[in-house]
Amino acid sequence: MHGHGATLIIDLGAIVSNWRRLADEAPGRACAAVVKADAYGCGLDRVAPALWQAGCRTFFVAHLSEAIAARALLPEAIIYVLNGLLPGIGPALMAHALRPVVGSRDEMVEWAALAAASGAPLPAALHIDTGMNRLGFPVPEALALAGDPIVAQAGIALLMTHLVSAELPEEVVNARQAADFARLRAALPGIPASFANSSGVFLGAPAHHDLLRPGYALFGGNPVPGRPNPMRPVVRLEATIAQVRTVAAGDTAGYNARWTADGPRRLATLSLGYADGYPRAASGRGMALVGGVRCPIVGLISMDLVILDVTDAPAAARGSTATLIGDGLDIDAVGRAAGTIGYEILTGLGSRYVRHYVTGTEA
Ligand SMILES: *Cc1c(COP(=O)(O)O)cnc(C)c1O
Repeated sequence: MHGHGATLIIDLGAIVSNWRRLADEAPGRACAAVVKADAYGCGLDRVAPALWQAGCRTFFVAHLSEAIAARALLPEAIIYVLNGLLPGIGPALMAHALRPVVGSRDEMVEWAALAAASGAPLPAALHIDTGMNRLGFPVPEALALAGDPIVAQAGIALLMTHLVSAELPEEVVNARQAADFARLRAALPGIPASFANSSGVFLGAPAHHDLLRPGYALFGGNPVPGRPNPMRPVVRLEATIAQVRTVAAGDTAGYNARWTADGPRRLATLSLGYADGYPRAASGRGMALVGGVRCPIVGLISMDLVILDVTDAPAAARGSTATLIGDGLDIDAVGRAAGTIGYEILTGLGSRYVRHYVTGTEA
C-alpha cells in the first residue's frame, strides 16, 4: 500500500539487544536507558516497555511531559528528568513519582521543602558540571556540599555528570572530568554514581561507575566513531519510487536547477522529502539503495520528493522500493551527508512516516 510516502521500520529486538550489549561492557553495574525525545525518534510507547521487559529499571528523559508519558508506560520504573526542577514543576514530579536531576542549590532547596511538606523522602539525582557549562553544580560548589544536610534533605540518590567529548577517547578533557568526578564521589561518599553516556561506556571500566546512561547507541548509533559499529542497526527507512524518467545531457533536475545531466541518465523520484524528516541538507550528497545499488540523490531535496540517479540500478521502476537508511546506509552516514550527526537524523524522523515495529533480530 502506498498511501504514505515512506515507511520507517523500527527493530525493537535490536534495541533490546543493544541494551544488553552495552550492559555487558560493565559487568556487575546497572544499565539505564536514555529515552528522551520520544526515545530518539523511535517511539517511547514501544521502546520503553520493551526495555523494561528486558530488565532495564532506570530511565532518563529530558522533560516533565516525557517523564509523565514514561510513567504511564512504566508504573514501577525509576524515571529521572534530566532538565531538572524547572520552576513550578515540583508538585507534578511528586504526583508521578518522578526524580529531578537537580543542578543548583535553588533546586535542591525547593525539592527538600517539598519532601519536608510531604513527610516522605523524595529521591533526586545531583548533576555536577565537570566541563559542559550547561546544567549542574560547578565542581567547587559541589565539593562544598560535603557534610551539608541539604544533600540528604533533597534525597540525593545518584551523583551524575556528563562527558564533553566521550566519542573522542584521546581528548584530555575525559581524564580531567574523570578525576573531578572521583574527587566528588570521595567528598559525597555512599551515593551511587552515573558517568557514561553511549560513547562513555566504551572508555573502559574507570568510566563505568554504578549506572550506565546510554541513549544513542541503543538506537543503533555508532558510539565509537572511526571504528566498526558494535551496535545493531535499529532504524530502516524506505520510500516508494513514484516515477522513473530518462533525461538527456544538459537537462537539469529539481528546484533552481542545481543538477545537470552530463549525459543520458535515468532518474527516479521518491515519495518522501524534507517534510517527512529527511534532511534537505543532504541534497546532492545523500544516497539511497535501489536493488542493492547505491544511487546518489541529485538536485535539491523538495518538501515531499527526492530525485535519485538510478542509471546503474536496473531494479528502479515505478512502485519499487528505495532504502534511505538500512543495509549499510546507517544513520551516522546519513548524518555526515547532511553535515550533521546521526543523533539529529534520528530525532528528526518525522511523524509523517508509517511506522512498523518488528522484533526480528533480538539475540
Ligand atoms: C542525552 C544524554 C545522555 C545520553 O547520551 P548519548 O550520547 O545519547 O548516549 C546521557 N546523559 C545526559 C545528561 C544526556 O543529556
